[in-house]
Amino acid sequence: MAVYNFNAGPAVLPKSVMLKAQEEFVDYRGCGYGIIEESHRAKPFEEVIQAAEANFRSLLNISDDYAVLFLQGGASLQFAMVPMNLAIPGKKIGFCDTGEWSHKAIKEAKILGNEIDMIYDGSADKFSHIDGIANWKFDKNLAYAHICSNNTIYGSQYLIYPNTGDVPLIADMSSDFMSRPFDINKFGLVFAGAQKNIGPAGATVVIMRKDLAARCPSTVPTMLRYTTHIDQGSLFNTPSTFGIYMIRLVTDWLVGLGGLPAIQAMNEAKAGKLYAAIDACKFYRGTVDKGSRSLMNVTFRIKEGDEDLEKKFVAEAKAAGLIGLKGHRAVGGLRASIYNAMPAEGIDALVEFMNAFAKANG
Ligand SMILES: *Cc1c(COP(=O)(O)O)cnc(C)c1O
Repeated sequence: MAVYNFNAGPAVLPKSVMLKAQEEFVDYRGCGYGIIEESHRAKPFEEVIQAAEANFRSLLNISDDYAVLFLQGGASLQFAMVPMNLAIPGKKIGFCDTGEWSHKAIKEAKILGNEIDMIYDGSADKFSHIDGIANWKFDKNLAYAHICSNNTIYGSQYLIYPNTGDVPLIADMSSDFMSRPFDINKFGLVFAGAQKNIGPAGATVVIMRKDLAARCPSTVPTMLRYTTHIDQGSLFNTPSTFGIYMIRLVTDWLVGLGGLPAIQAMNEAKAGKLYAAIDACKFYRGTVDKGSRSLMNVTFRIKEGDEDLEKKFVAEAKAAGLIGLKGHRAVGGLRASIYNAMPAEGIDALVEFMNAFAKANG
């Protein structure tokens, strides 16, 4: 039986990438040992990290004004590193609150003593949409403004990005990074834990304007300074070598598909099919309004939140080879995470299962 993995992260990776990694695992390209066993200072790994960076630079058209960094500590460490490095004494930090992941970032900024300017607060509508983005106003005195481009838990996504003028825009792109094209020049810094869309857990990609790194006060420890990693090409200490190797293979795969416009078209087709199945019957209800729905995390409920039926759905889906469909514990309900690597067949199998389940339990 085919198994389709709808987990939110760590998540599905492209089958061809998994097979390639398997093929190379014990003998990396004739070395006689695996890349996982290689020194991070040796030639074979140097080639891996350079290829991974080159892939990001070509896929996103990144100029030399920006650094591409491979760090550790997950997106969660970036919630602290960003304010540690980019806050400016006496200036507020702008936040746009689209749910859970925004709150975690706000918490770290506050721990460090920063004042917050709440630009947008989606809590009144239970984060069921992201409204009026084009009209958001950013005070020009903000140190920077932070958004979460795709809320993995609520299933909401920015369809456009706000215009922050000269205020550097920072984006937590953990769950939709490399799923669609974006103009990196509109951002001061973007970060993403690899485990949602581009690789295994343990590596975090940061793309940032190099000039912003100079803001870092001298009290920030070496490992937590962006300048350290920019100056050392992400090799100040031992990075997540196998993680970076996998990211290289995944980005090779993206290049081979035709880049970000191609993967975006595939993602739109997959998500479109799934939302259509949800909207086609009263049995299911999408929890996010049209216009803010994520192409990556499709959140829905059964009969306005019948938890027993939702439990049954998750169990029967699992038995049918469709795993990871339980909603995040903070919000309940159901969630299908359909990242870049989810094959179209997985969506078809899920839609078929949903239709049969609605018929049997409706
Ligand atoms: C998963 C996730 C995180 C947390 O990532 P870690 O790598 O576990 O720290 C942060 N932000 C978003 C949007 C996420 O989806």
